[in-house]
Amino acid sequence: MATVSADRKERIAALDYDYAAQPKQPLTSCNLCGGSQFVILAHRDRYRYPAQTHACRRCGLVFLNPRMTAEAYGRFYEGIYRPLVSAFHGRLIDARTIQAEQREYAVERAEFIRPFIRSFTPKTMLDIGGSTGVVAAHFAQEFGLDGTVIDPAPLEVEHAQRLGLETIADLVEQHDFGTRRFDVVIICQTVDHLLDVSGTLARVRQLLSDNGLLFIDIVDFRAAYLRNWSVEDAIKIDHPYYLTERTMIAYLRSSGFDVLRSDYAADHLHVSYVCRLGMADVKAMSSAASVEEMLREVRFVQNAPHRM
Ligand SMILES: [Zn+2]
Repeated sequence: MATVSADRKERIAALDYDYAAQPKQPLTSCNLCGGSQFVILAHRDRYRYPAQTHACRRCGLVFLNPRMTAEAYGRFYEGIYRPLVSAFHGRLIDARTIQAEQREYAVERAEFIRPFIRSFTPKTMLDIGGSTGVVAAHFAQEFGLDGTVIDPAPLEVEHAQRLGLETIADLVEQHDFGTRRFDVVIICQTVDHLLDVSGTLARVRQLLSDNGLLFIDIVDFRAAYLRNWSVEDAIKIDHPYYLTERTMIAYLRSSGFDVLRSDYAADHLHVSYVCRLGMADVKAMSSAASVEEMLREVRFVQNAPHRM
């Protein structure tokens, strides 16, 4: 075990990525509830970069703070992200190798969404952060949809184009869709990577047709730190946000979505939601009591003797 982590440390050091020197911005208001009182949960991430993780005292949202600017994240995704994840796991992970995993995921998630697709006849689909398009291509084929992928990584979008999907190399918050609407919007393994979850959900609300469906999933932060029995090991600079069932439901309700069904994936780490447009419920935030409960649990995990 000690050898494995020493090797990992060396592999990450060999990338020579200076996280501390990257331009960052401090966040002064919570992206979910607008609150301004935060608690620091961790000072390092799983790569041992000096990244601080905060939790909002009012709603329990967990996020990196300060966090890299959009430009710094752009450079991170261009050259560091996949090599860093590869160094962490000790095997090559790139746009090609992730496709087998994405295919398996696509098959599983298509079954989850199928009953809702049957209840109306959707024609168009937008995949936000759709990467190489594997998931979008599977959904498009299964459900007879015209698929569009929007993703800021040009190399990954190229793969998606080869699968016969319409592709847009841009950020969803920036792109001008004009009057276009989509019957299905999917945000797969992406929400934790966004810089503005509220802004993206507001955008989705405009882009979805009246009877449209939103499919979105999270890595459950609680499951991640309980699984590793470590808060730091559940943090990675690739994820500006750490959502839980409570905070994701609060995001969806306050952004005007009704959650039709939620589901734990087979790995128990990802939670998926199927949603429809509803009335925005601005009071849908977590209670202060539930925030205290999470903070107590985090302190308990941090103070426990470290397991090898
Ligand atoms: Zn908050």
